[in-house]
Amino acid sequence: MGGVIYADHNATTPPLPAAVAAMRAALEEGWGNPGSRQHAAGRRALAILDGARHAIAALLHARDEEIVCTSGATEALNLAILGLGERLLATRPRIVAGASEHPAVLAPVARLGEAGAEVVILPVDAQGRIDPERLAAAVDDRTGLVCLMLANNETGVLHDVAAAAALARRRGALLVCDAVQAAGKLPIDVAALGADALAITAHKMYGPQGAGALWLRRGLGLSPQLHGGGQERGLRPGTPNLPGLAGFAAACAAARRELPARAAHLAALGARLEARARALIPGVVIHGAGAPRIPGTTMLGVPGLPPGWLATLATVAASGGSTCSGGHGSPVLRAMGVPAADALNAIRIGLGAGSTLDEVEAIAQELARGAAALRRPADAP
Ligand code: PLP
Repeated sequence: MGGVIYADHNATTPPLPAAVAAMRAALEEGWGNPGSRQHAAGRRALAILDGARHAIAALLHARDEEIVCTSGATEALNLAILGLGERLLATRPRIVAGASEHPAVLAPVARLGEAGAEVVILPVDAQGRIDPERLAAAVDDRTGLVCLMLANNETGVLHDVAAAAALARRRGALLVCDAVQAAGKLPIDVAALGADALAITAHKMYGPQGAGALWLRRGLGLSPQLHGGGQERGLRPGTPNLPGLAGFAAACAAARRELPARAAHLAALGARLEARARALIPGVVIHGAGAPRIPGTTMLGVPGLPPGWLATLATVAASGGSTCSGGHGSPVLRAMGVPAADALNAIRIGLGAGSTLDEVEAIAQELARGAAALRRPADAP
């Protein structure tokens, strides 16, 4: 992408050279089946798998045996929500989830609803926050599952998962956490968080696509959603994606090493972007700016701007409110009460570890140029 600034890191991050090298090594040397312990090729593969599990667990301050390797977060979240929810349906049929959760959470929750669960979707306010009192009222002693993400993928808004997990525990419910957008940007300690299951994915933290993990609290059982062999303690049968997991492991190790510097870098860049956007774009709104957010994620809108803002960006690769929305505007912004036309026209800038201040300035200028051109089509270049 010559000359185009990549600002869509919330969608996918470029893999680190160390992740690519680990994947290549896994393909060249670790191509055996980790289930074949009787020969060296299998044992080499098993060592890669064990190493990956250890690196993932270390990032989350978890035990190796609590990690279930998956193809990504969608699979991990489906496994947790359906696998735990199905078991709880008869005794604790209520499921509580936030309105701004990712479809990888909302769709399996809806599936449980079709199977007889009583689904409660908690609204978010204009800043994307969940009211703790509403949450407390919703989680009753018939609640089996609470689903709450750490950081929202569109706005970056953070939720108080630790408080929700403590509440769930008091009521005898389990908490499933989508930590995809927080991983690699904020420290995650599963014990401190108090969740029961937590999903992450490699391709949002400088690893490859197609590799992810579910952390499942030790001793917790769930119903597998795939049926086959005994891999991953029978919870996720199927030969694992070893090259992907090797890349994920390298990304986890880098995240542990670089996390404080990365977070500070992203916070500085994000603050500059938002200050420059406010200075250059009349009427700009930064969605969720009133709530705590992960560093480096900025969802911008200009109420009343004619449609097509994202399409005006020639030098910036970003996402829009229309991405994955079927043309109805970002479901997250809609849940925050943003009118459909404005939600459709919003732009998400996702900065990354490799983003620079110069790029941030160029992004702000390009956003401003595009908005001005839409306002005054006749003057557009
Ligand atoms: N949850 C969140 C918050 C995400 O941003 C994404 C990716 O878009 C997912 C879940 C799904 O992750 P994966 O692409 O690994 O299935």
